[in-house]
Amino acid sequence: MGIKFALEEGTIANMNIELISVGTELLLGNVINTNANYLSRRCAELGMNLYYQITVGDNYSRLTRVLQECLERSDIIILTGGLGPTQDDMTKEAVAQVLNKELILDSHSKDRISEYFYNKSPNLDNVQITHNNWKQALTIDGAIVLDNYNGTAPGYIVRDNINGESKSIILLPGPPSEMIPMFEGHVYQYLHNLQDKVFLSRIVKICGIGEAKAETMIEDLITNQTNPTIAPYAKDGEVHFRVTASATSAEEAEQLICPVIDELERRFEDNIYSLDENENLEDVVVKLLKKLKMTLSTAESCTGGLFTGRIVNVAGISDIFKEGYITYADEAKVKLLDVNKETIDKYGVVSNEVAREMAEGACKTSGSDASVAITGIAGPGGGSQLKPVGLVYIACKVKDNIIVQEHIFKGNRQKVRYRTVISGLDLLRRSLLNILS
Ligand code: ATP
Ligand code: MG
Repeated sequence: MGIKFALEEGTIANMNIELISVGTELLLGNVINTNANYLSRRCAELGMNLYYQITVGDNYSRLTRVLQECLERSDIIILTGGLGPTQDDMTKEAVAQVLNKELILDSHSKDRISEYFYNKSPNLDNVQITHNNWKQALTIDGAIVLDNYNGTAPGYIVRDNINGESKSIILLPGPPSEMIPMFEGHVYQYLHNLQDKVFLSRIVKICGIGEAKAETMIEDLITNQTNPTIAPYAKDGEVHFRVTASATSAEEAEQLICPVIDELERRFEDNIYSLDENENLEDVVVKLLKKLKMTLSTAESCTGGLFTGRIVNVAGISDIFKEGYITYADEAKVKLLDVNKETIDKYGVVSNEVAREMAEGACKTSGSDASVAITGIAGPGGGSQLKPVGLVYIACKVKDNIIVQEHIFKGNRQKVRYRTVISGLDLLRRSLLNILS
């Protein structure tokens, strides 16, 4: 469940790492820097000290200057981008110059490049390898070459000794579809082998409590934390706490983490929906429905299928999911869900009463054991003083029990709809847990 790293010999403690993202498109905001986001999270999970994230355009002199600065203060530098065949790809050249190393031909990379092009084209006569493609077969003298299984640009790890200190410079391609597999396939293990400690981290996923409240509930633990550390992450209507311990063995790290997880469980009780890295809210809901051998149907108005989409994300859903109704217009609610026209006229379509009738109608028409119904004002128009934008009613029927919740969500249309889905999933989860208890 947690993330474990083994202990290696001959390693360094407290390594500083920094990331350099190369590309004018990143600097000018035309492309979102998802690589830096990905790499910083993974490096933090490895227990490394993230020192700086730098973005530099495709500019040789600025890149070399930045590299020199980084080498003075950090043990590991990861560069992404600028490994391609074109003129503006110059990361490898800049690193070689700063480290005072030659670029030499790597015959293995050369073979792989021609193989890549021949495999891509079924007709050998059409294969066109331009002269600049061979630039990617040049390696920095002494570097470990990392094969690229999703493109032509290999990556590199250069280990060098600068003023008596060992430094690792890691070069990865820019496209995330090439960078991520290369990082996971080669670099992650390399970095973890440099560490002298074992890091173990566990996640506690909470729903139904806001970030600020969740933090105040464990303020004392966060203030006094040393090892393990507790890091909160607010995540679209959820709060996650990552508990990370460092120790000389995995067992020791586990022993440090366990009491903290127990304490979090004691304080947050059933607001915790999972302790599993890979499990999300809909997984938990579907698991509970399967355990109770119950079927589900949905009736959505302002979320327009978003809730059902989340449920259907889970593989093997056909065992429990029966029908999903998107009843946006009033007439649709009457026609498909048997909502009383009088109820709509009397209380308004966004009301506790209509949500309740929608949930009842969804169960009745489909023959399901449980249903979730949603009616609300997602905005930006349609609100009034009495019924403002963001007002949403969520009804959950499980067997003979119906709970209707009223929410007023802040934010734009998409945020209101998204928050509604999370709250609907959580309401269903809690209703199912009630049956089990
Ligand atoms: P290529 O062979 O495609 O030229 P490269 O290693 O030279 O690869 P770049 O030219 O720097 O990489 O970037 C290619 C594309 O990859 C960019 O146009 C961008 O779409 C994407 N990319 C690069 N860096 C990042 C990043 N940090 N985050 C997200 N996407 C990126
Ligand atoms: Mg490029």
